Amino acid sequence: MEGRLRWSNGRAMPEATPEDRFARKRWASHAPHDAIPPPVRVSWNALWKHGQPGDVPLVPASTYPSERFVDLDGSHGEGGGQILRTALSLSLLTGRPFRMTSIRANRDQPGLRPQHLKAVEAAAILGQAEVTGAAAGSRELVFRPGAYSPSDLTIDIGTAGSTSLVLQTLHLPLAMRAESAVRVVLTGGTFNPKAPAHPFLEHTWRAYLAALGLPIALAMPAAGFYPRGGGRLEAWIEPAMPKAWVQTGRGSLRRILGIAGVANLRDDIAGRLRDRALRRLRLLGLTANVEIEAVRWPSPGQGAALSLIAEHEGAIPATFVGLGQRGKSSEDVADEAVDQLLAFEAVDQAAVDPHSADQILLPLALAEGRSIYTVSQTTDHLRTNAATIGAFLDRPIMIEEPSTEGQPGRVMVG
Ligand code: ATP
Repeated sequence: MEGRLRWSNGRAMPEATPEDRFARKRWASHAPHDAIPPPVRVSWNALWKHGQPGDVPLVPASTYPSERFVDLDGSHGEGGGQILRTALSLSLLTGRPFRMTSIRANRDQPGLRPQHLKAVEAAAILGQAEVTGAAAGSRELVFRPGAYSPSDLTIDIGTAGSTSLVLQTLHLPLAMRAESAVRVVLTGGTFNPKAPAHPFLEHTWRAYLAALGLPIALAMPAAGFYPRGGGRLEAWIEPAMPKAWVQTGRGSLRRILGIAGVANLRDDIAGRLRDRALRRLRLLGLTANVEIEAVRWPSPGQGAALSLIAEHEGAIPATFVGLGQRGKSSEDVADEAVDQLLAFEAVDQAAVDPHSADQILLPLALAEGRSIYTVSQTTDHLRTNAATIGAFLDRPIMIEEPSTEGQPGRVMVG
C-alpha cells in the first residue's frame, strides 16, 4: 500500500542504535504536503557556503525553500535504479527534496525492489527524511530530507538484492558528512548480475575512491548469490571530501590477476573457470603475467564467479566479472569475464572501465576543480547518471564518444 509516510517522530532517536531503528517500525502517516513546485537548479557555489568544502557540512535541508524540489523521471535514459540511488545521495548531500515518477520503468519488474527500498529506508534514517511511496513495487517516491545524522548502519536487504548498490548510495553522504569513521554492515547479495560484485568493489571501486581521496576498507565475511542471498558486506568509511582527478591514458598491461571462486559447489568448477580463462588469454599472448587463484567462499547459498583484474602501469585496476548461474557452463562464465576484459584492452588509451565510468561521476561532480578521464565505452548508465547529477547540481559534465578508430571516449566534469 502506498501512503504518506514520515519518520515516526521527525527526529533521531538518540537512545536507539541504528540496528534498533531498522528493527522498529519506522514510518507513520501524516498529512499531505502542499503541491510540489517546479524544480529549479541550485548553483554549485551555494553548496559550499563557507568556501572550503572540507570544513563545511552541506546546507541542512531545513534551510532550503521548498521550490528547490527536484523532479525526476525514472524512465529517463537507462531507466533503472541508478537514477534513484544517485538522487538519494544528492538529496542527502544538498538537502534538496525530490520527487521521482516512473521508477525503474525500463526494467522487467518496474518500481522499487527490496534493494532499492532498503536504500531509501537507510537514506531516510540518515537524513531523518519524510518519505512518500516507500513500498515494494512503488513507482513514485517523494523524499524530503531533514536534519542529517550520520551513524553506523546495519542493513539486511532480506533478499539476494545487491549490497554493493546500497553501500554506494550511502557512501558519499556518510564520507562527506560524518565526523568520525562510520561502519556499515549489509546482508544480501555480494555477487549480482548487472551490479558491482565484491571483487570489483575491493580491487577497483576502492582503488578509485583512494585516488579521489576517499578512504574505505571493505570485507566480505560471506558471499551472497541469487536466490539465497545471505552474503555479508562490511565497510568502514573514513570522513573525507572527494578530490578532482585527471587520467587520460594508461600504461602497458603489467599483470592480470584472477579470482576463480565457488561457494558450496565442487572445487573442480573453480579449476574449470581458471583453465578456460588461462587458455583464452594464452591464445592472445597474455600468459606471461596472468595469475589466477582458486578460492572457496563461505556462503549460505551456492554460486561461482570468475573475476579478472587488469593492472596497467599508472592506472587504476579494472575488474571484469563472469557470474555463474544454473544451466550456464563454467566455460561460459569464464568467457563472460574474458570478453569484457578484451573489449577494454581493445581501446588503447582508455583509463577507466565502463562500469567505473558511471560510478566515479558523482564523487567527481562533488569535488572542487575539473576532472577528466578517458573511457573504453560510453554507456547509458554514464549518460543517465550525468543527467541525474545535472538535475541537482549546476556542474557541467561533458561526454565525448569513443571514435571508430579506437580512440577512447572522454568525460569532463567541471
Ligand atoms: P536492476 O537492473 O536490477 O533494476 P538497478 O536498476 O538497481 O538494477 P542500474 O540502474 O542498472 O541498477 O545500475 C547498476 C549499476 O551497477 C551501475 O552503476 C553499473 O555501472 C553497475 N554495474 C553493472 N554491472 C556491473 C559490473 N559487471 N561490474 C561493476 N559494476 C557494474
